[in-house]
Amino acid sequence: MKHSDVRWNPARREHFCVSCGRTTDSFDIADAQQRLERFDCVVPSVDAAIPEPGTETIRLMLKSLKPLG
Ligand SMILES: [Zn+2]
Repeated sequence: MKHSDVRWNPARREHFCVSCGRTTDSFDIADAQQRLERFDCVVPSVDAAIPEPGTETIRLMLKSLKPLG
């Protein structure tokens, strides 16, 4: 079993894997695990969403260095 710790989230009325955060709207725990089994238990990478550190700051600094007018 890929997702070893699947729990019920009563607030959203869905089962979710504690390890990877993947959710399924199945009410039945066995069915939920079966559905989740089709996917690997991998935490989604957050690296792609985060821009390189300092990139934005450097750009703003260069802009402010430009002479006005
Ligand atoms: Zn998982």
